[in-house]
Amino acid sequence: MADEQHNSNERDHKKLGRELDLFTFSDTVGKGLPLWTPKGSVIRRELERFIVDEEIRRGYLHVYTPDIAKLDLYRKSGHYPHYKDSMYAPIVIDDEEYMLRPMTCPHHFELYLDKPHSYRELPIRIAELARLYRYEQSGELMGLQRVRTFCLADAHIICVSEEQAIEEVSKALDLIVDVARVLGLKQGEHYRFLLSLGDRTNTEKYYKNDAAWEKGESLLRGLMQKRGEEFEEAKGEAAFYGPKIDVQMKNVNGKEDTAFTVQYDFCMPDKFDLTYVGEDGKPHRAFVVHRSSIGAIERIVAFLIEHYSGNFPLWLSPVQAKILPISEKHAAYAQEIAEQFRAADIRIEISADDSLGKRIRSAKMEKVPYVLVVGDAEVEAKTATLEGRAGKIGALPVADIIAKLKEEIRTRAL
Ligand SMILES: [Zn+2]
Repeated sequence: MADEQHNSNERDHKKLGRELDLFTFSDTVGKGLPLWTPKGSVIRRELERFIVDEEIRRGYLHVYTPDIAKLDLYRKSGHYPHYKDSMYAPIVIDDEEYMLRPMTCPHHFELYLDKPHSYRELPIRIAELARLYRYEQSGELMGLQRVRTFCLADAHIICVSEEQAIEEVSKALDLIVDVARVLGLKQGEHYRFLLSLGDRTNTEKYYKNDAAWEKGESLLRGLMQKRGEEFEEAKGEAAFYGPKIDVQMKNVNGKEDTAFTVQYDFCMPDKFDLTYVGEDGKPHRAFVVHRSSIGAIERIVAFLIEHYSGNFPLWLSPVQAKILPISEKHAAYAQEIAEQFRAADIRIEISADDSLGKRIRSAKMEKVPYVLVVGDAEVEAKTATLEGRAGKIGALPVADIIAKLKEEIRTRAL
């Protein structure tokens, strides 16, 4: 038990985040408002590129909408007053009240409403890496896990029917499972599915439409059974507008949070009058799926720091390789190699101060995946002596090392 405690502390993302220089906080900026360092920003950017490319490949349309909107928009969606306690106080601009957005949904619905849509265009999958702002009590704030502003890989899928919506829920789950696999996360071990249901008796919390709740919940339950997924049910955990499937993950301290979510919504289409033009030329009510793929970037990075104990796979490592010239006379050759690596989009640094032993130790402390040592023999043979996390690999031609690393990055090997 003592050992386990020790290990989990070693993996704590707040501790590793400081040691590996990934993110920081400033009292002057404010509580729960993370500042990403250049190294932490590399991890974040790689994750964002990965998820945007993956979503575009699956038919999502990526957009940008503002972080702020009129309070009326959230009155229309019902987030205000339902969600009031998680929102910040309104900001008055030219006598009108505005809010920092806690949600992206209403922005995407207004975008959809910009022009009429035919049933042939649907499903329309509107996605955004959206910056959101939610009030968390200061006692609840924790590193990147619980913050007051975060970036959600969010999307809203407008569908013609309940059946199409359920199909889209299934595709969103496929995406989540694929993303989890790339990150090395296994169902049962690292995450679990939760079917979050409404509570019909709590009409203050949940949108009143018993028949729609009944149908939505049984469709989601049926889908999970058909997919053969293991899942648990949780009553009273749904969104106010419909039931959802949550992907739950635990941090090193055993605290469980929702990492990703897929929600079925029969309420917002009414509130926003979301329609499409059917085959009959008439407007029909649409159905909506809300989903996050990789979740809040802050939360998944916190989770991944702990999951990998800071030993990120090569594609996510802020510094992918370090070149260690044995002495000053090998500096020019080290520089030459570094340029070849940079031209191949590999993040490399040269480490030239201190003794060789110290530099190797510090590269290990920084959890750099590869170290290249160059001396007389390497300069002569146009090679470098390569060492990975598992130990020495040996002297290889520089071109071969570049090819090896590029392949490892391309396949996002674990
Ligand atoms: Zn939404």
